Amino acid sequence: MEKCKVLIVGSGASGLYAAYCLVNQKLTSDIIILEAEDRIGGRIYTVPFNDHCIDLGAQWIHGRGDNPLWKFVKENNISLAEKANRDCEGIFIRTDGHSVPLEILEETMDYLWSVHEEANKFSRDPDTSVVIPQSMGHYIEEKFQNWLENDKKSDNEETKTWRRQLFNWFIKFEECDTGCDSFYQHSCISWGEYLDYGDDASFANGYKSVLDKMIARLGNDVQINLNHRVTAIDYNDDLIKVQTANGKTFQADHVISTMSLGVLKKYHESIFNPRLPSDLITAIENISFGAIDRIKLDFAEPFWDLNDPGLLIVQTEDKLISDISRSNWFKHIFTFDEVNYHKNSLMGWISGNAARFMETLTNEDIAQDVTDYLQKIMQKYKADPDWKLPKLRQIIVTRWNSNPNFCGVYSYRNQDSDAKGIVNKDLSVPVYVRGYPRLLFAGEATDAEHYGTVHGAMSAAAREVSRLEAFWKNNQCSN
Ligand SMILES: Cc1cc2nc3c(=O)[nH]c(=O)nc-3n(C[C@H](O)[C@H](O)[C@H](O)COP(=O)(O)OP(=O)(O)OC[C@H]3O[C@@H](n4cnc5c(N)ncnc54)[C@H](O)[C@@H]3O)c2cc1C
Repeated sequence: MEKCKVLIVGSGASGLYAAYCLVNQKLTSDIIILEAEDRIGGRIYTVPFNDHCIDLGAQWIHGRGDNPLWKFVKENNISLAEKANRDCEGIFIRTDGHSVPLEILEETMDYLWSVHEEANKFSRDPDTSVVIPQSMGHYIEEKFQNWLENDKKSDNEETKTWRRQLFNWFIKFEECDTGCDSFYQHSCISWGEYLDYGDDASFANGYKSVLDKMIARLGNDVQINLNHRVTAIDYNDDLIKVQTANGKTFQADHVISTMSLGVLKKYHESIFNPRLPSDLITAIENISFGAIDRIKLDFAEPFWDLNDPGLLIVQTEDKLISDISRSNWFKHIFTFDEVNYHKNSLMGWISGNAARFMETLTNEDIAQDVTDYLQKIMQKYKADPDWKLPKLRQIIVTRWNSNPNFCGVYSYRNQDSDAKGIVNKDLSVPVYVRGYPRLLFAGEATDAEHYGTVHGAMSAAAREVSRLEAFWKNNQCSN
């Protein structure tokens, strides 16, 4: 049985940064990391692609200034791309081949973005006079309906139809951005609590460049065991015992778990012995974990406007069918974004049940459905019955939701968590055994203000390292 002072479950941004902080602050290098996958990085996943690389997980640094990731990037001289990856930019095309009239597009999007920004006012503060709506979806829909009713131009039925179709597109965008299954369940309070660090940036050589710097600092002292899936954490004793699926047993003074909220939801009962405290279980059960996927399409040549790359697909149908099947799942891909360094490629985004459904298909089936879909739309858009989609050379599809080491993409709060007063911080409460913080929780979902991000995962790691540091100081490292 191997022993260590701190055992970290997971080698994503949070697990690696926890080890980095422990080593960098010279607190301890007696650390073992156990990782279920055959690679480090977790939801950071940079893969080689053509003559460069692409990110299949996180791809943006969300904001600068005090963002701990931004500071890490600057301190370690990590190269950035000249421009951030484009995010839902390009030409809006309707499935019947029409492009959205520019004036209608600008007015409608400006209005919807202003409502999106205004929602930052929601808070838990009982002194505020702001009324909290049922959900973000309800809030934005009510505002939009009022706007339509008072908008003179929307007396014209065609204008009104365009605006409604753009509204439906915007809801899809919000659902994919937040990872929620339905914007009509998304919490308003968490919207206000999330803190934004401003403009996005992207890496010149993928997110992997952050992992490389962390690993370099860990040196040979810290053991990282890949293909070690933790199946049991027994914390009844003075030392914690951890078992892995490959039959190994480890002992540690403290365990920092960075397993995703999706993994905790599915496996907490089988992994932890004794059962986790009931407040923690309530938080695990009531905070949601979203589903998103990416479809990377590499064509023989671009067929989109290179001056404004990217295709945003607006549906003619008023509401997309909720019954997802082979004949309609692809209609939920609402954007095909241009990707830095890959001028022949587009990245499709899909979320919720449509993403879960897609994961059941083979890559060949996905390629077939998506290329048929694009062929039909573009043929109408080009108004040329002979127009042919360039050959699809390669497709890469993510499967974050069915992978048992992730069980989804990132956390979000819903109406129920708001009603019960449950917040992300509730997931970060450590378990003490006879006064010792034996079991600590980091990971993206445990951060109060930056959940769902890489910098949130890093802040959460730094928080747990500070907790251990304070404990060790007060207890003179006794155990
Ligand atoms: C498609 C997608 C796009 C995203 N885009 C962005 C973005 O642009 N910018 C941004 O800031 N954030 C983005 N995010 C979110 C960001 O990637 C995550 O918030 C962050 O990487 C989470 O890090 P973590 O360490 O908390 O968790 P993870 O990265 O999930 O790390 C946990 C690790 O634990 C391992 N593990 C799980 N169970 C076990 C077990 N039983 N035993 C051992 N190991 C286990 C997992 O394999 C994993 O490696 C995106 C995420 C996804 C999926």
